[in-house]
Amino acid sequence: MKIKQLIDLKFDNRFTKELPADAETINNRRQVFNACYSLVTPSQVTNPTLVAYSEEVADLLDLDPTVCKSKAFTDTFVGNQILPSMNPYATCYGGHQFGHWAGQLGDGRAINLGEIVNQQNQRWAIQLKGAGPTPYSRTADGLAVLRSSVREFLCSEAMHHLGVPTTHALSLITTGETVIRDMFYNGNPQAEPGAVVCRVAPSFTRFGHFQILSARGELDLLKQLVDYTIITDFSHLGAPSPQTYSIWFREVCQKTAEMIVHWQRVGFVHGVMNTDNMSILGLTIDYGPYGWLENYDPGWTPNTTDAEQKRYRFGNQPQIAFWNLGQLANALFPLIKKEQALHDAMDCYSETFETGWQTMMAHKLGLQAFKPSTDDDLCAELLIIMQLVETDMTLFYRQLAKIDCSQGLEETQIDSAVDRLSPAYYVPEQITPTYQLRLKQWLKTYGQRIQNDQRSHSERLNQMNAVNPLYVLRNYLAQLAIDKAEQGDFAGVHELLDALRHPYTEKDGKAHYSAKRPDWARQRAGCSMLSCSS
Ligand code: AMP
Ligand code: MG
Repeated sequence: MKIKQLIDLKFDNRFTKELPADAETINNRRQVFNACYSLVTPSQVTNPTLVAYSEEVADLLDLDPTVCKSKAFTDTFVGNQILPSMNPYATCYGGHQFGHWAGQLGDGRAINLGEIVNQQNQRWAIQLKGAGPTPYSRTADGLAVLRSSVREFLCSEAMHHLGVPTTHALSLITTGETVIRDMFYNGNPQAEPGAVVCRVAPSFTRFGHFQILSARGELDLLKQLVDYTIITDFSHLGAPSPQTYSIWFREVCQKTAEMIVHWQRVGFVHGVMNTDNMSILGLTIDYGPYGWLENYDPGWTPNTTDAEQKRYRFGNQPQIAFWNLGQLANALFPLIKKEQALHDAMDCYSETFETGWQTMMAHKLGLQAFKPSTDDDLCAELLIIMQLVETDMTLFYRQLAKIDCSQGLEETQIDSAVDRLSPAYYVPEQITPTYQLRLKQWLKTYGQRIQNDQRSHSERLNQMNAVNPLYVLRNYLAQLAIDKAEQGDFAGVHELLDALRHPYTEKDGKAHYSAKRPDWARQRAGCSMLSCSS
């Protein structure tokens, strides 16, 4: 039965019921001790307009499409109207930013409305991003601009359809108000349209939620939050106990590794992997200056704030997740007290990542399984070749799949195999004879390996196309949709949302969604360079 009135949404608000609140209820900026959250009301906005909503997320909440098109929906998910069963709050967390402990951060521009339990008994926490200041806003305004909200809305849904664990986005609503942002922190503040995204996830708990309690020595509360998390989000582990704590941390390590394997598979660069942006459930969370690899370059980061150090570059994401888990382990040590158990769990991260990466690469290449004796070299050489000339990662794997090498590749077939790959190159002049020779050698080895795998061409093609997406949220595509949206035309957002629903299936008339980055987008802000200002 679909819900036809928002009032029928069933909130149980376990987070605020079971965890201690900040005694202070005035909405001023402060350090909040001995509490997991502060009660706070979203700001009122003058003229909210629904830009888009996700049918799939509405479905998770049992919402009938007619409700999603109602004024009540817009008023509610922009924060103007609070349902009687909601209990809005902002949570307290800390975190390591760019490798340094930053103390209290918290939901500075996110306000949780509560948790819905749907008809399948699934729990969904509902959170507005950009709905005004909270006690955790520090020096900032608690608001979000349209461009970053479009990016968060589209990318969370695109990631979901790609099969990458992620928070969801129910809706994107403009506020009718402007927000001042200095996009590149270079003394050029501009008034931009404001927006609110309603995010949905089983929980928004981050590594930083545990870190802040541990850093402050609030160990009873640390235990309380861990127990709550195990009971609520990891109920399959059984009742919390010293044994469960270690198993739980191990599972966090495992889920984190699985998420990173997915990022590396699709070419996603998060951009700000601070520990406050790491979900305890291994979900991709906080879409800020993220980006998608166009030409394969492990050294690339879209985040201009990180341009010097490139700490959060694509190729570094696996190591950073490990480092972040190390910070979480430190935070949990006073509770778990067994160094060895924490080390074992971290080893589980490394093992899960290693085997997950190998299987992922085998599937990307159309192999049944990863055989280290041959495939270590095969992958290493491929990843070097892909960097020798600017090679579009997404198109490369889709084109590679089209090459029939079920019987290996004869000398006479190699040239046409090379031709097949040409749509993936950005700069044809870079394709030198030396490069070609190296590529041909690799293709020959690859052909033999595929032949030995003894599978039909169509079987291999289908497997490859099931893990190598054709349509991803290319940075410039998002920017084109934003350009239109800023002029009040939301068609680009709707079209992208729709195109990214089936990222693995080639569709007639959708070629422009898989097109390589055009030259104009190389250096344009929002297409290759993004800052944290959003
Ligand atoms: P982020 O870089 O988005 O992960 O944010 C780091 C911290 O800054 C978090 O505590 C955010 O809630 C907070 N923050 C970011 N932008 C704003 C903003 N415009 N207003 C208030 N807090 C913000
Ligand atoms: Mg964040």
